Amino acid sequence: MNISRRGAFKVAAFGTAMVAGARKAEAREKKEAPADATGMLYDATMCIGCKACVAACRRANDLEFEKHSRLYDDPIDLTANTCNIIKFYENESESSFIKQQCMHCIDPACAAACMMGSFQKRQNGIVTWKPDRCIGCRYCQVACPFSIPKFEWDSATPAMVKCQMCLAKAGTTDEGQLNEVGQPACTEVCPRKAVIYGPYEELKAEALRRIAENPDRYEDHVYGLEEVGGTQVLYLTAKGIPFSKLGLPELGTEPVPALPVGLQHTIYKGFIAPVAVYGVIAGLVWRSRRQYDKAGEEVGA
Ligand code: SF4
Ligand code: SF4
Ligand code: SF4
Repeated sequence: MNISRRGAFKVAAFGTAMVAGARKAEAREKKEAPADATGMLYDATMCIGCKACVAACRRANDLEFEKHSRLYDDPIDLTANTCNIIKFYENESESSFIKQQCMHCIDPACAAACMMGSFQKRQNGIVTWKPDRCIGCRYCQVACPFSIPKFEWDSATPAMVKCQMCLAKAGTTDEGQLNEVGQPACTEVCPRKAVIYGPYEELKAEALRRIAENPDRYEDHVYGLEEVGGTQVLYLTAKGIPFSKLGLPELGTEPVPALPVGLQHTIYKGFIAPVAVYGVIAGLVWRSRRQYDKAGEEVGA
């Protein structure tokens, strides 16, 4: 499809207006995790890649198997049927597993971008979604710096899907509650306790303690303490294997929602149909997404 010069100028002018709106929101205050925040700590040095957590996640969330080879269930990436995946990184001298799911950001870009209130930060600071409110615009997907929400392409009434920390009934009630065992399925089944669940402050202290007591074992960095304003899922990695090699991008410490909130204010002020700016939003978040994809190129499922 060709775009005329006039059309191109219009798009450029519109994009400038969007950026101006985003800049107004740059002063957005950094948020703290709620007092009752819970989260997960994944220690890549303890994970053996058994994928028990992947199977447990599928069972707990009634998700269908994914078959890409002769194996019965071998997802290769996060999809609407896979909210949790274990990938593998290796080079000539080192290797590591890495677990990927929603990071439950302290200031989530997906919730800021969702004009329908489908994505919300709720009990324990967990970020949930309500399928009955989702109109499938996919703003949340392009806004998320980790490329987490996935679209139900196979559904007649599609919505976006992602990990909700196993918050039972999250799609249908305002309260939500943890599942019967009181913790997520993936942490419950992990035979090595490579991924654990608990109060956020305790997980932060535990991560820092492991690094302090084992400086030769770990990189001196807890991923999620500062990235994009903080995430309630935290990561530790082995010494010599930076997070960027494991598909976790270098995103800086500023919360990402400054961008979608600024854009939304600009959009609604001018009564411009949201669908018309979808491409502009996608372009503006492309840079952070590119970092994520580039970092993930070396990581396979
Ligand atoms: S990782 Fe993405 S989907 Fe999850 S809370 Fe953060 S912005 Fe939302
Ligand atoms: S918390 Fe629940 S939904 Fe999220 S990755 Fe673990 S098992 Fe899956
Ligand atoms: S269950 Fe635990 S050890 Fe097994 S792949 Fe998942 S996180 Fe790693």
